[in-house]
Amino acid sequence: MTELAFDRLVLASGNKGKLAELQQMLGEHVTVLPQSEFLSEEAEETGLTFIENAILKARHAARASGLPALADDSGLAVDALGGAPGIYSARYADGAGDAANNAKLLEALRDIPDAERGARFISVLALLRHADDPTPIICQGEWHGRILHAPSGEHGFGYDPLFWVPETNCASAELPAAQKNRLSHRGKAMAQLRKQLGLA
Ligand code: IMP
Repeated sequence: MTELAFDRLVLASGNKGKLAELQQMLGEHVTVLPQSEFLSEEAEETGLTFIENAILKARHAARASGLPALADDSGLAVDALGGAPGIYSARYADGAGDAANNAKLLEALRDIPDAERGARFISVLALLRHADDPTPIICQGEWHGRILHAPSGEHGFGYDPLFWVPETNCASAELPAAQKNRLSHRGKAMAQLRKQLGLA
C-alpha cells in the first residue's frame, strides 16, 4: 500500500462531466483542483492506449502545476464495432460533441439487434506524484451494458443516454450521480485507487 503523502492534487481533465464525478469520489479525502487553474492547453492524446493517454494527461498537469496529478482516460468499446470508438470516444464525430457522437453511434448500429449491441465503458486512472514520477499508480475499471436504440435520461454526460445498465434496467443517464458512481467504470477504478492510497 502507498501512503498518501499529499493533501492536494490536480485533476487533469477539461471534461466537466468527468471532473464532477472525480471530485465527488475524491473530495472528502483530498483537495482537488481543476487543471484549468494552471494551464490553458490540454495535453495532446497521442497514445494508442487508455493507459498511455492517462499518463500523458496527468504528466502535463503535474508539470504545469508542480502538484500531484490524476487523469482519467476513458471511453466506450462497442462489440459490434470491434471495440470502437474506444480511445477515440470523445472525438468519434470529429469533435462535434456528445450529441453528434451519440447520433453517429446510433447510425452505426442501426441494423444491429439487441443481442449484438453489447458494449463496455472503460476507465483508466493514472496518478503521478510529480511530473517525472517513474512509477505512476494505474487503476482500471469496466462497466458492461448494451447500446439502446434511442437516448434516454438527463444525467451524466457523453454516451450515458445510450448506455443500458443491466443492474438497474435503465440508461446510465437515468441514474442519479451517486448511484452511477457506485456502479460505473470510473467508480470501480477509483475504488482501487482509494485502496492503493490507503483511503478505503
Ligand atoms: P477522454 O476525455 O479522452 O478520456 O474521453 C472520454 C470520452 O469517453 C468522453 O468524452 C465520453 O464520450 C466517453 N465516456 C467516458 N466515460 C463516460 C461516462 O461515464 N459516461 C458517458 N460517456 C463516457
